[in-house]
Amino acid sequence: MPPAPPLTIDTPAAIDRLLRFLSVEGITGEEAAIGKEIATALKEVGVPAAAIRYDDANTRIPAPTQTGNLIVDLPGTTDAPRILFMTHMDTVPLCAGAKPKRAENRIVNENPKAALGGDNRTGCAALVTLAAELIRQNLPHPPITMFFTVREESGLFGAKHVQPAELGGPKFGFNIDGRSASEITIGAIGADRWEVEIFGKASHAGVHPEKGISASMVASLALADVFANGWFGKVEKNGKQGTSNVGSFGDAAGKSAGNATNVVTDYVLIRGESRSHDAKFVRDITAAYKLAFEAAAKKVKDHKDKPAKVKFTSRLDYVPFRLPDDAAVVKRAVAVAKSMKLKPSTKVTNGGLDANWMVKHGIPTITFGAGQNEIHTVNEFVDLKDYEAGCRLALALATME
Ligand SMILES: [Zn+2]
Repeated sequence: MPPAPPLTIDTPAAIDRLLRFLSVEGITGEEAAIGKEIATALKEVGVPAAAIRYDDANTRIPAPTQTGNLIVDLPGTTDAPRILFMTHMDTVPLCAGAKPKRAENRIVNENPKAALGGDNRTGCAALVTLAAELIRQNLPHPPITMFFTVREESGLFGAKHVQPAELGGPKFGFNIDGRSASEITIGAIGADRWEVEIFGKASHAGVHPEKGISASMVASLALADVFANGWFGKVEKNGKQGTSNVGSFGDAAGKSAGNATNVVTDYVLIRGESRSHDAKFVRDITAAYKLAFEAAAKKVKDHKDKPAKVKFTSRLDYVPFRLPDDAAVVKRAVAVAKSMKLKPSTKVTNGGLDANWMVKHGIPTITFGAGQNEIHTVNEFVDLKDYEAGCRLALALATME
């Protein structure tokens, strides 16, 4: 039997820490300031400066990113296998300008036009609280890697581009990013992002419409075909399920495709996505879009029988995963949560998580929450009871043998 988990934390200090991190702006790609604040807070609670470093993932991320991932190494006091705790440092852009304020059992936002950023400063504060409590209470624990990722919100990029060896070979991982400590996410969906450029030809729509090739018409025929064949929205084929969406439809500058009623539209750019818990079905959905655009391009021609051209590209956003219920990391999380009377349940989510990439990197990782609510909206708040439960669960997971 495991020893009773140490359930006490310095709750006022943990809440102060959360308020402190919520008040530092750090939208996705701009994590330098919050990374610095987290590193400072870690040093204040006794983590040696030499144990804190950044990796170079930002040099591989295909979007401007101020810093790499922040990685912290806490040497073990026992020789049990290394474990990983992780969370993301960035917030969605809507969080710029947030003004956190305590309101009884919640932290709310005084700026009505911004989201709060509890997604995911709750995770950042929970991990620093974990380090603080391990040191303050002198608790025995295995070697721990703490991993604070960048650019989660814009595509799980920090977790995708970490060199797995940087993490020191943990046996499994715990990702803090969610609402409740009792909801243990053991699987997540996979997704593709795709885009198609449609090249037509401009011509005066009244004088010589036959000389034009309408990129708008190609797009419309293709999307009508995708819709008619059941590949749009909720997709169900041969017992497989997924979703797809057409997210933007315009020109390369984000403006309307075409701009005058009397000109045949020469160019359209469409961006969309496909998702499924079945990795192959994600690709099938994306392929259905590609085929539809290519077929439609052949139908729309000018007077010399010249068709439109399409350039379709897709990239794997993240691979789906599903840990077995009897995986060591799942059993450990469920047992520890039960011992804390949290009534744990396991679930599979339809959103992507940094954990998708951890599993791909060979580190089985579950995800639980620490008080985020109404994320990505101006109504966002943090539930401090759930935050405290998340902090305590992390501490119990780190110290249970
Ligand atoms: Zn998040």
